[in-house]
Order: sequence, then structure tokens, then C-alpha cells
Amino acid sequence: MCKPGDTFYVKAKDKELRSRAESGAAVSTLLKFALETGMVDAVLAVQKGADIYDARPVLIANPAEIQEISGSLHCGTLLLSRLFSSYLEGAEGLRIAAALKGCDVMGLYELAKRGDVKLDNILMLGLNCGGSVSPEKAREMIAEKFSIDPDSVKKERISKGKFIVETAVGEFSLSMDELEAENYGRRSNCRRCKMKVPRQADLACGEWGVLGTKATFVEACSEKGALLLEKARAAGVIETSLPASKGLEIREKIEKSMHRLAESWREKDFEALGSGKSRMKQVIDETSRCIKCYTCVDACPALSRIKPSDFSAGSPGKVPPAFAFHALRYALVADSCINCGQCEELCPMDIPNSLFMHSFAVELQELYGYQAGQDLSLPKVAPLENRSHNK
Ligand SMILES: Cc1cc2nc3c(=O)[nH]c(=O)nc-3n(C[C@H](O)[C@H](O)[C@H](O)COP(=O)(O)OP(=O)(O)OC[C@H]3O[C@@H](n4cnc5c(N)ncnc54)[C@H](O)[C@@H]3O)c2cc1C
Repeated sequence: MCKPGDTFYVKAKDKELRSRAESGAAVSTLLKFALETGMVDAVLAVQKGADIYDARPVLIANPAEIQEISGSLHCGTLLLSRLFSSYLEGAEGLRIAAALKGCDVMGLYELAKRGDVKLDNILMLGLNCGGSVSPEKAREMIAEKFSIDPDSVKKERISKGKFIVETAVGEFSLSMDELEAENYGRRSNCRRCKMKVPRQADLACGEWGVLGTKATFVEACSEKGALLLEKARAAGVIETSLPASKGLEIREKIEKSMHRLAESWREKDFEALGSGKSRMKQVIDETSRCIKCYTCVDACPALSRIKPSDFSAGSPGKVPPAFAFHALRYALVADSCINCGQCEELCPMDIPNSLFMHSFAVELQELYGYQAGQDLSLPKVAPLENRSHNK
């Protein structure tokens, strides 16, 4: 029997799904299986839209449509969590399976803490995530650094520290470290993120640790996830094998080195921002561009209970709003910031909201007694065995 903590290489039996998928098609196959067998009523996932820079959310009720969501979109920066509360009634009356990055999972826990989603009704297939690249930045980076027309790119991927693009002519790659040294590459919040293997999900799925074959590395993280794997294996839609011990070792090494890299980005970004009065001056200067569109409020999973009208932002219609608007926003998010980056990614005035919010949150988390080296991005939830959705 499969149990939480077990790890497998997983391959889908369906050849069509395997050919479309990023790794072994475990994610698409398990989502399809959950839908076909009535474990869930619908699947929420991300689908390629007009091009590789256009990642769209999609709700699927017909298992035949699952193949449309296979593959990874590294320029897909959207957060799925708020869609549950804004459009799906918090999964109150609908059982939903979803493929979720670490920030999507953390966002769901923030919503659950506020009573805005019913976790019992959500089956979380977590995706390991080294980070995503903003669509606009990706286009600029491909044109400037690769000297390639961004519209000619058929596929992109991030592998072994390289950003790789595929066109009709061939494959081209550049080192992520070098790109990031020039402020290209992953979003700055992703560089600081330590949630690389989302173990608060029911399953954590990725590529790290897979050796010599195309498969998905799957870690069962809850009873619910273990049961899904077990049933899919018994039904013959996936085949599993035990990971090579070298593979396990490599996965652990990569995860640790990604944590160290994230820590060094935190140090770098927070040091450049400074502290005390000089940090506050920068925050006041930068937020003075605010046009009061409230996107940062609408997008934030920690502000799901807050309406724009709850803020006193100075005289109606006048911009910029009083700084009190931002100060109150920071106070309300406080240590709950999951560093998903949405407040920065979606800001039409390019205010580095996420950097400010994350630096305040990490400082508060440290004040509240988190230990050095502990994952500061972890939401404060009950231990795995006590979580009600695992029962
Ligand atoms: C931005 C990003 C970065 C990643 N970085 C790493 C990494 O560094 N190391 C690692 O081991 N694995 C990483 N992964 C996971 C890996 O790419 C595969 O998703 C995983 O191995 C599962 O493969 P599969 O063949 O089973 O998935 P498939 O069967 O191909 O299904 C992929 C699923 O991912 C969903 N998806 C695609 N793009 C996005 C997106 N932008 N946001 C949310 N969901 C999306 C699709 O809707 C689909 O459900 C990353 C994934 C993403 C999306």
C-alpha cells in the first residue's frame, strides 16, 4: 500500500498524454483518473492560450479535454488560489482537483485559514517549482539575449540551470545565473522562494531526481494523495517504480541548493532595500506612483476578506492615494505574505510591492521566533497527520 512519504517514478500508460506531457504525464493522468472515477467533479488547471507566454486557467469537467492542459508553461505566472474563492465558491459544493505550484498551495492555505475555501473538497497535485518567468520579461529576454523573435518560439523549458527555447531551426539555451545577473530569468519573488517541493499538497510532482528515463517523480504527501496513486496504479493507468537511490540523493541535493540560492537572493534583495527609515523612504517614494486600481488587494490570498472600500485611501478619485492605504495593506498582510508575487506582477505602475511585502513578512516571521534555516514561507497549519483533509 502506498502511504504518505513514499516516492515513485511514475509513467502514464496513455501514449498520447505522455507525448504531450512535461515529464511522465503523471499529473494529467491522475487528474483525468480522478475525474473519470468521480473522485472529483472538475479539474482546475492551466492551459496554453494564444502562445507560450499566455497561460490561462481552465475548469474541465470532461475527461477527454485533459490532454489540452499537459505540459509546463514556465511563463505562466498566474495564481490559481484566488480563483477558488472568487469564482468557485471556495469549492464548497464542488470537489475539485487542481495542479498547483507551491505558491498556489500556500495561497489555498491562507484562504482556508480565513474560511474562504473548503480544503476537504480540493485534491491538490503539487508541482515542484524552480520559478516562473514573467511573460513580458521572457519576450524581452528572448529578443535581447537569444537574438530570437519571441513569436518564433514553439516551446520553452528550464532545465539544469538553463533557460532553453525551441524554434523551427533548433534549440538554444543560456545559463539562468547569467540571465539573472542581468535581471532577466525568473521573477524576483520566485528567486527568493523556498517552496520548491510543495509537500503541503496531496502529491508533490516534478522532474528532479529522475534518471535516464522520462518519468514524473511523485512524492505522496497525504493519505488522500497516496490513495489516488494507489487507485490509479490498480486501475492500470499509470506504472510506478521505486526511484534510484542516486535519484533520491540528487533530488535532495537540488532542493537544498535551491534553498541556499533563495536565501542568497533574500539577502541580496533585502540588503539592497535596506531597513528602518531608508527602507520606508523607498517604499513611500515607489508607492507614490500608485493609481489606486486595487489589483494588489484583489490578487492577494491574504486579503480575500478585504474590499477596496475597507481602505481609507484619501479623497475619492484622487491619485496617488494617501500612504495610509499602503501602510494598512502591509499591516493586514503582515506575516501572512506567501511571496506569490501577484501584487508586483499585476501592478500597472511596476511598484515592487512583493519585495516590500516579503521583506516585512520575513522580518516579522523572524521576530515571532522562526529558526534560522527553517522554511519561512510555510503557512502555519496543523501537522500533516492532523489536517482534516487528509482524513
Ligand atoms: C513554472 C513551473 C516551474 C517548474 N519547475 C520545476 C523544477 O524546477 N523542478 C522540477 O522538478 N519540476 C518543476 N516543474 C514541474 C514539472 O515541469 C512538471 O510539471 C512535473 O514534472 C509534472 O510533469 P507531468 O508530465 O506529470 O505533468 P503534465 O502531465 O505535463 O501536466 C502538467 C500540469 O502542469 C500544469 N501547469 C502548466 N503550467 C503551469 C503553470 N505555469 N502554473 C500552474 N500549473 C501549470 C498543467 O495545467 C498540467 O496540469 C515546474 C512546473 C512549472 C509549471
